Amino acid sequence: MMRCPFCNNSAHTRTSRYISGQTKEAYYQCQNIRCSCTFKTIESIAKVLRKPAS
Ligand SMILES: [Zn+2]
Repeated sequence: MMRCPFCNNSAHTRTSRYISGQTKEAYYQCQNIRCSCTFKTIESIAKVLRKPAS
């Protein structure tokens, strides 16, 4: 979930896809009917806090 950058309402994911192993692109649509804007986000791993034990 992501907030709309225009009206601050919650926006829902329409589609998402991985553009690399650690980066995901998602398309959002604002749930506010009077706004209903769409936007795209890039989500990626910022930091690994604990690596696998192996
Ligand atoms: Zn909005």
